[in-house]
Amino acid sequence: MIDLYNDTELKSHLPSIKEDKFSDDQVLEEIRKLKNELANEVVILGHHYQQDDIIQFADITGDSLQLSREASKLSKPYVIFCGVHFMAETADMLTTDEQSVILPDLKAGCSMADMANRKEIDRCWNFLTSATSQKIVPITYINCAATLKSFVGENNGAICTSSNAKEVIQWAFKEGQKLLFFPDQHLGRNTCSELGISLDEMIVYNPSMLNGGVTKEQVEKAKVILWYGFCSVHQGFQAKQIDQIREEEPDRKIIVHPECSYEVFKKADLAGSTSYIINTIDQAPAGSKFAVGTEINLVNRLNKKYEDKSITSLSPYQCLCTTMYRVRPRWLLKSLQSIKEKKPINVIKVDKETTKYSLLALENMFKVTK
Ligand code: SF4
Repeated sequence: MIDLYNDTELKSHLPSIKEDKFSDDQVLEEIRKLKNELANEVVILGHHYQQDDIIQFADITGDSLQLSREASKLSKPYVIFCGVHFMAETADMLTTDEQSVILPDLKAGCSMADMANRKEIDRCWNFLTSATSQKIVPITYINCAATLKSFVGENNGAICTSSNAKEVIQWAFKEGQKLLFFPDQHLGRNTCSELGISLDEMIVYNPSMLNGGVTKEQVEKAKVILWYGFCSVHQGFQAKQIDQIREEEPDRKIIVHPECSYEVFKKADLAGSTSYIINTIDQAPAGSKFAVGTEINLVNRLNKKYEDKSITSLSPYQCLCTTMYRVRPRWLLKSLQSIKEKKPINVIKVDKETTKYSLLALENMFKVTK
């Protein structure tokens, strides 16, 4: 695996800007040519939050769940993953050893995924399991490093996405009495509250505090232990923005992603994964109005696509996922060029042990959501 925090190692894998001789338009033209030339060897996956200049080249677009399912069906030797690091890791684990998964920019990470690491999770687990004799089932949102997915597999838990968190959590409560949910506290809290678990049955474990800032008595009493992580993009949406829209345009529906805070989630008319948001808007009658609480590239794309509907962002500020935005057409071109030269760059490889246990956790998710 490439060490993302080692600058010297990282630089040797980054595309070089100096060597570039193409204008922006030429870059797009070159991608088009090379994509055709390498059509039998390369498949390009594009996450919904990617910019349009990338999405236009994607063979498959989707959210984390769709793309992880698609990755497992692919047979072409090269998969270029236009998304963030944890997604490329998941794709590597779901593809064969003969296939290579490429992330166009290695610095395309996820601020939420970075809020939990294996050392912290191990420390948390030791504390929680020493605080109670009840069985705790670990559930991780797919937005995390492979080592954390492996932790979940090693401890008989499951991975979830924002599309299937409800089903996975229901499954977990059949397996044990308590839940450790990481790294996104909001998805955990919002989904558990939808399942009828009250807020006072949930506690937040903050890894930067001694024992997570909770006592053994609190752990014993709690049903759900939420990790203190969040998405910096979705945290940008606020309840007062909903109040303002309701006052100005009462007929505009508010639809948000469950990574938004509890207050926003509760006040919104509708909430669900990116796929849910897309499908809801797609199926709404002409003339419908939506204020959407999710990443701005997707909101703008929906607005362009559905000319007969009015689609705006819930926030007046640009809620952009800056790490997704790091994947530029120029880096996509570099990835294609490196494949053509038979010297692929930025190949994401997860070691066998980590893969083995992560796949157990993924299998539990697929079993529940089939
Ligand atoms: S939108 Fe949030 S959770 Fe998704 S990749 Fe960006 S920072 Fe991570």
